[in-house]
Amino acid sequence: MDLNKLADRLLPGDYPDLSFYEEKYPPRALPKGAEVTRLAPSPTGFIHLGNLFVAIANERIAHQSGGVYYLRIEDTDLKRKVEGAVEAVKNALRYFDIKFDEGAKIGGDETYAPWYQRERAEIYRAYAKHLIKIGRAYPCFCTEEELSALREEQTKNKEITGYYGKYAKCRDLSEEEIMKNLDEKKPFVLRLRSMGDPAHKLKFVDAIKGEIAVTENDQDVVILKSDGIPTYHFAHAIDDHLMRTTLVLRGEEWLASLPIHLELFDALGFSRPRYGHNCSLMKQDGETRRKLSKRKDPELSLEFYRKEGYFPRAVKVYMLTLLNSNFEEWYLKNPSEPLENFKFSVGKMSKSGTLFDLDKLNDISKNELARLSAEEMYDFLSAWAEEYGSEEEKAQLQAREKFLKALDLCMGTSGKKRRKDFVTASQAMQTLSYFFKLPERTDDYRFDAKTCGQIFDGFLKNYDFSDDAQVWFAKVKELAGSLGFAAEMKEYKANPDAFRGSVADVAEILRIAVTGKANTPDLYTIMQILGEEETRRRIKGAIS
Ligand code: GLU
Repeated sequence: MDLNKLADRLLPGDYPDLSFYEEKYPPRALPKGAEVTRLAPSPTGFIHLGNLFVAIANERIAHQSGGVYYLRIEDTDLKRKVEGAVEAVKNALRYFDIKFDEGAKIGGDETYAPWYQRERAEIYRAYAKHLIKIGRAYPCFCTEEELSALREEQTKNKEITGYYGKYAKCRDLSEEEIMKNLDEKKPFVLRLRSMGDPAHKLKFVDAIKGEIAVTENDQDVVILKSDGIPTYHFAHAIDDHLMRTTLVLRGEEWLASLPIHLELFDALGFSRPRYGHNCSLMKQDGETRRKLSKRKDPELSLEFYRKEGYFPRAVKVYMLTLLNSNFEEWYLKNPSEPLENFKFSVGKMSKSGTLFDLDKLNDISKNELARLSAEEMYDFLSAWAEEYGSEEEKAQLQAREKFLKALDLCMGTSGKKRRKDFVTASQAMQTLSYFFKLPERTDDYRFDAKTCGQIFDGFLKNYDFSDDAQVWFAKVKELAGSLGFAAEMKEYKANPDAFRGSVADVAEILRIAVTGKANTPDLYTIMQILGEEETRRRIKGAIS
């Protein structure tokens, strides 16, 4: 068969010689050991924790080695494409401070652009034409019906499904048959002519998993669809080669496709990049562990972390804890250092499933937020509210001075010991809301209405806003004593039956009246922040 003639018939027109692309996208001038890595999402609009997980690893490896990290959009499947998805990816990763050097909606060095696969169609066709000419690609005219009949037959016979070996009907069509089909304008796809033998096991060194056995590919996979658009397999091989990727770190769900990718690189005459397959994030669900699921676990979506207002560094710290086994120890010793100072290594990545635990992340978040100054926390909350806060929350933040005082108290920034009350921005805004509006009572009074009423009346009668904390507390003690409560905790503990309760109970009742809660930071300071009028209003309100 005249393969050049066949190639011209299947992909008419002039395509540049492949050397053109090799020169146009030359090897990158980078120092020795520099890695070129990428994130290559499909624009489906759903960017998830798994993407962030692998993005952090890729980013660290590229930048730590003086290399390049780029963003490529794998948009060959239009059915899955969602408007605004690329912006969403970019924004989601920017939130976590993941910086790309080049890529879609990033810009940077244009040498290796375009970064959208749809814009690279001509390149893929040029390589496909080359594969036809060297006998490594052929047209397949099988219809959907024929292919599903084939799948059914294979399933019935308990065989591997797919287009391979004796099932690859179009693999050995004669020139006449092909030309006849083309004359009849039958649609066709281009398939790889696989040379692999599934009886062969290759030894493959995965950058993360180490040496693994890989079965040689024998599937004649589709490389160009009938509309001339490449499949993901084909496009990624050409892109990773021409964009000069040195290390492909990706989720382990791609491990099954690895044999196809290896064969494609070989058939195209490219040297292979190294591959590392990162373990999936698992969740403990009762007795079992399962992969995080889009349907069941809102925490899989990156949008969840932004909406809740997780502090980006906290999420990153947790991801790094899961990614590198020695990170936690390093971080314990270097809690204030930039995370980039940690020496990340692929070799320390987990080889099998990693447990993702939201409670653990929440603990880390508390610690991270407890390191901020009141001003830093204020800025973080403001940025969050800008995007996700209610009008009411935005208005609360407008009262900056008051807000800072509330933060100072609730974070313990000027005290000896920092408080760890805040987990996320939304939770912090919720927690702080009693400073700005009449609180909803979330804790109940443990005493009857009459007793509470006596306490409120007694407190208001002697309340003087200009009292300092000592005087204020002395008055509360006095009030307690006058109502049959122990003024000193010691007295109460020594003889609890002699009293209605203690000064702590009296303070709790006042606290609930003013804040709605039984547990808050120092009540005197809260009243000072609220101001005299508001304090009186709340206690009066509690009487009724
Ligand atoms: N486009 C693939 C995805 O959506 C990328 C797989 C890879 O990294 O090779 O995840």
